[in-house]
Amino acid sequence: MLSIKNLTASVEEKTILKGLNLEVKPGEVHAIMGPNGAGKSTLGYVLSGREGYEVESGGAELNGKDLLDMDIEERAREGLFLAFQYPVEIPGVSNMEFMKESVNAIREQRGEEPLSAAEFLKKAKEACKQVHLPLDFLKRGVNEGFSGGEKKRNEIMQMILLQPTLCILDESDSGLDIDALQVVAEGVNSQRSEDRSFIVVTHYQRLLDYIKPDFVHILADGKIVKSGDASLALEVESEGYAFLNKVEATA
Ligand code: ADP
Ligand code: MG
Ligand code: MG
Repeated sequence: MLSIKNLTASVEEKTILKGLNLEVKPGEVHAIMGPNGAGKSTLGYVLSGREGYEVESGGAELNGKDLLDMDIEERAREGLFLAFQYPVEIPGVSNMEFMKESVNAIREQRGEEPLSAAEFLKKAKEACKQVHLPLDFLKRGVNEGFSGGEKKRNEIMQMILLQPTLCILDESDSGLDIDALQVVAEGVNSQRSEDRSFIVVTHYQRLLDYIKPDFVHILADGKIVKSGDASLALEVESEGYAFLNKVEATA
């Protein structure tokens, strides 16, 4: 599904990703952990095509196609979803209108009929229920005055409505409380399927008590320095990232 090879990328002329490799197969959940400033969020931004992030060398393929060559809309059409790429706040545009536009734009690109207002409303109500948001959230301005937990629920609702195939969630700096953590976990778990994959960036080991990752990777200084199964997250929890120095010393 996603194949990242030797990815080197910079922002503001500063090289942040330094030869990163990652393979994600359909249905897999990968957790990425790592010290602050390692490049975790940068990885998400580069994959999403955010402006200002320059790929210097290496590449990334999504479904066998050159991901880095696509514009943002093409990436979405290929099934990429980045929770944090959506606007922080758009006063005056309702959540409902915004989501309907987004979903129908993707349907159109996939050559599917757009959903009518009634069809979309039905789906949106179901999704609202699933993330335990009251229905009046659909009428509220996008993210306008949402609490941290509500923003999270809203993101997961977007994910449910958009039905992406590769979801990247960056939960590193989002200051999640236990309640929001569970919303994210439930959302991911309910959407897990054979043909949908997740990359969950987090430094909350606790999140991985709820989302059982197939693989855990440690990203440090712009590359994946260690990969393992869920037990690696527990190791990090008890020992911190001190072992990274040992890895480097023996490399
Ligand atoms: P992480 O998410 O792992 O904490 P980031 O990807 O946010 O790390 O940041 C990696 C490094 O890139 C940090 O040293 C950060 O200061 C730097 N960086 C990120 N964005 C910018 C930017 N827009 N301009 C300059 N440096 C940046
Ligand atoms: Mg950070
Ligand atoms: Mg970050």
